[in-house]
Order: sequence, then C-alpha cells, then structure tokens
Amino acid sequence: MDPPYEGHRHRRLSIRRRRLIKPLDSTRANPSQSQTERGWRRRRRDGLPLRAPPRRRGARRRLLRRGLCLLHAPQDPRPAPPLRPRPTPPHPPPPRWRSPRLRPGGCRRGPRPHSAAQGSRSPHHAHPAGAPAAPHRPRGPVISPGSTKRVGAIVRPTTPKSPVPIVSSFERIEDSDDEEEDLVPDAKNDAAYLTTNGTIESELLPDKTSQNGELKTVPSTQMIRSHSATGSLHAPQLNPIAADILRKEPEHETFSKINITAVETPSPDEIEAYKVLHKCLELRERYIFREEVAPWEKEIITDPSTPKPNPNPFNYEHQAKTEHHFEMVDGVVHVYPNKDSRERLYPIADATTFFTDMHYILRVLAAGDIRTVCHHRLNLLEQKFNLHLMVNADRELLAQKAAPHRDFYNVRKVDTHVHHSACMNQKHLLRFIKSKLRKEPDEVVIFRDGTYLTLKEVFESLDLTGYDLNVDLLDVHADKSTFHRFDKFNLKYNPCGQSRLREIFLKQDNLIQGRFLAELTKEVFSDLEASKYQMAEYRISIYGRKKSEWDQMASWIVNNELYSENVVWLIQIPRIYNVYREMGTINSFQNLLDNIFLPLYEVTIDPASHPQLHVFLEQVVGLDLVDDESKPERRPTKHMPTPEQWTNVFNPAYAYYVYYCYANLYTLNKLRESKGMTTIKLRPHCGEAGDIDHLAAAFLTSHNIAHGVNLRKSPVLQYLYYLAQIGLAMSPLSNNSLFIDYHRNPFPTFFLRGLNVSLSTDDPLQIHLTKEPLVEEYSIAASLWKLSSCDLCEIARNSVYQSGFSHRLKSHWIGRNYYRRGPEGNDIHQTNVPHIRVEFRHTIWKEEMELIHLGNVKLPEEIDK
Ligand SMILES: [Zn+2]
Repeated sequence: MDPPYEGHRHRRLSIRRRRLIKPLDSTRANPSQSQTERGWRRRRRDGLPLRAPPRRRGARRRLLRRGLCLLHAPQDPRPAPPLRPRPTPPHPPPPRWRSPRLRPGGCRRGPRPHSAAQGSRSPHHAHPAGAPAAPHRPRGPVISPGSTKRVGAIVRPTTPKSPVPIVSSFERIEDSDDEEEDLVPDAKNDAAYLTTNGTIESELLPDKTSQNGELKTVPSTQMIRSHSATGSLHAPQLNPIAADILRKEPEHETFSKINITAVETPSPDEIEAYKVLHKCLELRERYIFREEVAPWEKEIITDPSTPKPNPNPFNYEHQAKTEHHFEMVDGVVHVYPNKDSRERLYPIADATTFFTDMHYILRVLAAGDIRTVCHHRLNLLEQKFNLHLMVNADRELLAQKAAPHRDFYNVRKVDTHVHHSACMNQKHLLRFIKSKLRKEPDEVVIFRDGTYLTLKEVFESLDLTGYDLNVDLLDVHADKSTFHRFDKFNLKYNPCGQSRLREIFLKQDNLIQGRFLAELTKEVFSDLEASKYQMAEYRISIYGRKKSEWDQMASWIVNNELYSENVVWLIQIPRIYNVYREMGTINSFQNLLDNIFLPLYEVTIDPASHPQLHVFLEQVVGLDLVDDESKPERRPTKHMPTPEQWTNVFNPAYAYYVYYCYANLYTLNKLRESKGMTTIKLRPHCGEAGDIDHLAAAFLTSHNIAHGVNLRKSPVLQYLYYLAQIGLAMSPLSNNSLFIDYHRNPFPTFFLRGLNVSLSTDDPLQIHLTKEPLVEEYSIAASLWKLSSCDLCEIARNSVYQSGFSHRLKSHWIGRNYYRRGPEGNDIHQTNVPHIRVEFRHTIWKEEMELIHLGNVKLPEEIDK
C-alpha cells in the first residue's frame, strides 16, 4: 500500500466525519483554541520561555474542527509522523477499497466514540468494502448527539436488517454524502427515496399507492427492485412519477390518456365517407391471402430459451406427391383435385373483377369529400401523437430506463427491404475484388467475344490493376447524377461501369456458377451474425426468361450452403417484359408467367421433382416486384387483353403485373398451406414513384410494400393504409438518391400518424458508407428527424412484425405474445418499447376503426386477422 496515499485517505476520512458532526465540534473548537492562546499570553506575561505550539497535530485538528478541507489548507512540508504505529492489515485489501468513492462510507459505519481522527486511523478500516465488519463492532450508523438534523436525511432506520448489500449501502451513502449540503430532511422525499430503493414497503406512500390501485406489494423478484438494489441508476430519483413508474411492472405503467373527440356525432357527409372507407377495407379483406390456421395456433411455444439454429437447413425430407392437377387459364393457374376433376379448388376473383374493384378504389381516392375527411383524420392522428409525446415522453423514457439490459442496440431490427446483389457495401466489394485478383488471378471467369478470360485478363482488358482499384474507381455509389434517373441508378450496379465485372462478381448464373457472389454473401452473413441483433430479408431475382431459373437459383443456394438464422429470402421479379420481348426470349406475357409460376406448382405438388427448389422455398417468405415505377404507363382497365393476348412489345402496367402475380401466388399459397408447407407473401415495391394506382392495386392484394412514399399524395389511400396497418418498408436514403430529398421524405409524418413503418436500406452497395448500413439508416433518421430511443425501438419492432421470419424467432425476438394486438402483445424486456406507447397506438387505432365502422365492429385480438 502506498503510504502517502493512505495518509491522504485517512485525512479525508476524518474530515468527512468532522463535517458530519460539525455542530458539536464547532462549539468545542473555540474554547480550546482560546485556552491555548491564553496560555501563551500568560507565559509571555510571566517571562516564561515560549514553547512552540504543538503544530502538527494541533494545527490539523484545529483545521478539522473548523470543518475546513485539508486538501485546500496549506500543507506542512514535513512528513507527518505516525501517531501510532500503523499495523499492516492481515490481508492486502482489494484495489477497490482504495477507490475514493468507497472511503467515507466505511468510516461512518465504524464505532464513533468521539475522536474522528483516531477512528479513521484505526486498522479496522482496512477492511475491504464487502467483508463483514469485526464482530465486536456494532453495525449500523452511530449518530453523534449533535448531528440529528443532517444525518437524518441519510441514515435509514432499516439499515440493520436491510437486505441491501453492503457495497450498495456504501455507495448510496457516498452518493448522498456528495449532496449532503443540499438535502433537506423531508419526509416525503425520504419516503420516495426509500421506496425506489425497495427497502421500505409501500405504507410510506399511502396516497401514491392508492392512486394507482396497487396497494399490494410488488414481488421482490421484480426487475426494478433488483435493479436499484445493486446500482445507483435510479437511486436519487425523487420525482414521484418516476418512482411510480420504476416501481411497476410494465403492464402497470401509468400514462395520461389522450381522449379527443372533435365532434360528438359525425355529420351525414362524414358518415357517408366512413361507409365508403369501410367498403374499401372489406374489399381488401376479400382479396388478401391469410393463412387459415395462424402459425401461433399451429405451434405453441413454451420454451423461453433461444431457439436452436437449424442444424440441417438443406436437408430434403421426402414428401409424397399429391394428385393435384393444374393448368394455366387466362394467366391464372387453376388447381383441380385430380386430372379428371373439373372442380376448381381455391377460386379467385378474375382480372375483370380485380380491375373493376381497383377502379372503385381509384374513384374513392379522387372524391373530394372523402379526401377532406381523411385529411382531417390524418391531421388529427398526428396531433394526438404530438400531444401524447408532450404529456408522456418522460414516462416513456423512464419505462425504457427501467427495462433491464435492453436498449436500442440490442433490440432486434430487420432490414425489411434490401436487394441481395447490393447487400454488401462498396468498400467490402472493393476489398473482395482485390483479394480475388490477388489470390485467384488465373481463374477462368467469363466468356466474352468468343474467348474465355481469366480474372487477370479481364482486368488487363480493362487496363486496370488491383493497385489502381479504389472506391471512386469502382463507382457504384449513387450520386447527384442518379436523382430521378432510375436507369443511371441501375447502371451503378456495374463496378467500374463494366458489365463484365457485374457478371463476374454480382451474378449467380455465370461461368463460375456464382461462386464469387456466394463467397461475398457468406461474408455478409457472418457480419450480420456478428452483430446478432440485425436481420435481413434479401431479394434475389427470378426474371421469367426460362423455367430453369428456379432450379438454377435453388442449386446456387443449396450447393453454396447459403443459410443464416439472420436471413430469409424474397424473390424479386423485375417488371421488364418488354426487354425480353424485344430480345425475342419470350413471345407473350403468358410465357413470362409460365416461367415464373409453373415450376412452383410442380414442386409444390411433387417436391421430389425439384428437391433443391423445395428446400429453398422453405426459406422464401415473399414475392417482390421491382423496377422503375416512374416509367409512363397506361392505366389498366377491365377490358385488358389476357396475358396470352399480350404479345406486343410494350410493358404491361404495374397493376397488371400485380394482379397476375397476386392471383397465381394466392392459389399457390392455398395449395401449399393445404399440404403443410410454408407460404409466400406478396410484398412488392410500390409507391416509390409513378401513379397512385400502383398503391391502389397493392392495397387490395399485398401483405406489405416497400417504399410507399407516394402515399403522401393521397390522403385517402394513406388513411386506408393506416387503418389496414399495411407495412411500409421505407428507405429514406435510397429515396434521397432517386426520388425525394431526405428532408421532404414523408417517413416522419407517417410515423407520427401511426402508419406501420420500418426503416430499410434498399441498396447498401449504392447508398451506405459503413459496415452496418441498417444502423446507419436508423442513425441518420434519428438525427435528422429527432427520433427518440422509444421511436427507434418502435420502428425496430415494426420491422420484425413486417418481416417473414418464423413464428418461433419472432416470439423469441419481440415477446411470446407478439401476435396479440395492443399492449398485451408487447414485451418491453424484448422490444424496449414502453407499454405506454403501444397502448397509445392501439387505443387510437381502435378508435379510428370504430369510427369507420360507426361503432359496429368487433376488432380481432390478434394480428393478421
Ligand atoms: Zn428496393
């Protein structure tokens, strides 16, 4: 032990003691000093030799008695002689004992006859903080006679039987010691303080407890108590509201409910509008695919532990072929129980009906009075949320603080919209290309212009070396030139502007069977797994040029063992019929549909016909439609040619694609569900640009959509998306590169209004700079739009809801009852979203739904119903 330090410590100890008993000592200090002075004067008068005053110890004592801090007092340069030999402690105390924070607490717990200085030098004080005190010492505080008032605020009457660990009481006393001067002994504050600590039962706060109707004691296992007993996080919290929230389980969080009714009874016009909106919602219900038996009804999860990763994700289990027979009729697959039967299973609305219904929606969107009503409702939603924040934001924050372990960093967030071929960032791709050029220069990678080229030769043909390569040369990042230029944005997929590099590194169906892309993908997977709390839904393309594309893709996935617990797949279908038609690859739109859907029916009816595809489809959760929505198109009518008749070179409209994909997928899902297989949801890109009828078509058919920024242009549709709680996987940074400046993005407005929004990255390769693009997306949104931690966690929670991960994983990530609507479905320990927030959102949504249904509705208690 370092002696000077030790001495210093003891000095401080004694000072603190003195400060505690200052009233007593200060009365004694003056007489004793004047006695000495009187003695000197007497000696001088009597002619006796003047003795040097007992400088060292006396001076220090005087200073102590005056309550001055020795640290600031002039120090005697000579080393202090020990008052008595300081015995070495039997065991060297652990380092924490030397921590200045623990000093005075020990002192106060020791025997305190009268001499603070003596007591502080006692060897007993070498006890480690956590060790039990010597047996002969009385435990508990010893209060000097004159110290009642000041110590009263600190000393707890229950200390001797307090379950609080000794370390904690040291710290607590230390903390309060620092604020000693400010503490006024106040019964109310004391009570709050003690209750927050959990050491005293609630009788101390009768008014508080009765107000909340929670007079019965909360179980001692409650997280808040265990929390505050060991740490000082909430200890000095004197705010009664804070104490109230911290004391409770999340279900019992109190909050100020916002109850605003602008008009008691709606006017006849409004009633008409509500009826129309109600009809729109009913239309959607008629179209949308829902599983007959929800996943949580099939599999009840009782095991709270982490689900074990699938040890054998590519294992093919033989499933018997069924007798089902299918055929394409007017662009939609009809399924029959067997070859001879003509009884169609899973009938579905035909194209004429669909386009008629879509036009009905479009007429509703255009009706002035309905627009007024919806605009008004949306504004009211926004204001209600603002009011909620004004009243309850502090409570929300407190509830979040009280949720142990959880914070924004370790809540699960899913990147609900990201394209696989752009899932790595530019630096990652650059590093990968360089490493391949270094390690495998002689690999034959491409067949161009009649010759096979090695990787080295490819770079030579481009007049590039590995050393030349940098991110700027790679030039895959979106910049000013891509704004409103989807075509230019697409060209950015070509590293160094070279389609051959894209083919080598970013394609699956190339000369090396997509080996490089698979290796790159695995690196991205391991990055995701390392982050643990980030998941992604990658979109891979099926173009529909030939039927074998499915098998090719499945074998690429299975042979390269591309599997991660953090990843599921979506299939994206680029809407570029016109390109293939011009190339002569296909002759009609029907060809495209055949190539896309027939293999799926084949494998569903007889998995053995495409075993790899069967295994792969187990990991596919959605079907996406992608491409430039801003291209001009003719709005489809109910008199559209059938896909078979669609042989011209023009691309069909968005809604036309949506209907045929929807219809075939709906039937397929029904068939798959009947066979106990996983289903595939329709989740197209929609509303990124282009006409409003894209969003109308998706409203009827889609489970959720990517983008949806164009909802800002239609209050009616926006309100309908709110009521139906259709998920929007929004990517403000991507929009910023393509269609809307960041500051004009409607995301924050949608979020305030309570639309089901999540944040996603879209194309990390072109847009993001860091290794964690999803967190980058959250981070920028949080900074620019001033999103609170509660907002971020709510968005992250939404993203899990929107995603297609399994029931088992979702219940592990966001709580076992996640499928229940409202606060019952929320688990703050998993989501870090306070019940206050969830309850507010749910209450407001319920009110809107009741309004639309004119009070005549029984809302389902579970999601997806
Ligand atoms: Zn996208």
